[in-house]
Amino acid sequence: MSVLVVGSVALDSVRTQSEAHDNLLGGSASYASMAASFFGPVRMVGIVGDDFPRAYMDLFASRGVDTAGLQRARGKTFAWSGEYEANMNNRRTLSVALNVFETFRPDLPAAWRETEYVLLANIAPALQHHVLDQMRRPKFVVADTMDLWIETTRDDLVRLLGRVDMLILNDGEAKQLTGIDSLPRAAAALRSMGPRWLAIKKGEHGCLLFGEGEFFTVGAYPLEEVKDPTGCGDCFAGGLIGHLAASGTVDVATLRRAVVHGSVIASFNAESFSLKRLEALSKDDVAARFDAFRRFSRFE
Ligand code: AMP
Repeated sequence: MSVLVVGSVALDSVRTQSEAHDNLLGGSASYASMAASFFGPVRMVGIVGDDFPRAYMDLFASRGVDTAGLQRARGKTFAWSGEYEANMNNRRTLSVALNVFETFRPDLPAAWRETEYVLLANIAPALQHHVLDQMRRPKFVVADTMDLWIETTRDDLVRLLGRVDMLILNDGEAKQLTGIDSLPRAAAALRSMGPRWLAIKKGEHGCLLFGEGEFFTVGAYPLEEVKDPTGCGDCFAGGLIGHLAASGTVDVATLRRAVVHGSVIASFNAESFSLKRLEALSKDDVAARFDAFRRFSRFE
């Protein structure tokens, strides 16, 4: 079954302590769509400018990402630049240029309105609402967000929570949105605002899944070297919804596996800049690391 992904498509500049790269393919929709593509067909909704490289369009096509919903407008593609400290958990945004995003309205191709699995990847909540307004009866809607929207468009974000099945955010954002330090209590507060399911990411410490009477925890894959963690959150969300759509059900066991699949794709993504690692990844690689997660967390 197809997944519909809306989010940003960006040209990123990323600096770590040892490397710096410009004009990289980035954006929440790019990472999430590529991640979801390991599980089935993906429909991508977003916008790029006339400077967006052809090679990046070819990459989407090569992974079966349908770009019929990717608008091309006059002007420059959304551009983001960030810098990592020696501790890669700490990132500073150096600049953001909205460019073609300033006038973006994500209008869906008519045939896409019936898509059953929807990922509202990180983008302004008003645009996430606009996509949902056009959907017929999605089976499962996942929303991702970031601190910027909690600070600047909180009301839109809170209203969105009543319209989605699952919210994904990181531990700091869960505390920021609720004002509660305890993650289980923050999770309960967030679930009372709408989403039946909540995934709280903890970076290199893994992820927690909360539902009615349900709790699941998964660690992160023990990577010896993290090259560039940009987009790991988006890959987590994309892998998660991709697995749900491929399974066609959203019971507890499937959701647990989906969280692990999200963690698998996110861990690969950190091994290289931009989407380079995912570009070279095979389904066998994904299956092998999924098995490794199972081995690492099994005990009697
Ligand atoms: P993550 O590392 O998961 O936070 O995702 C990083 C990606 O998000 C980068 O590729 C950026 O292009 C994209 N991004 C950064 N800021 C924004 C924003 N305000 N809206 C949408 N996407 C963004």
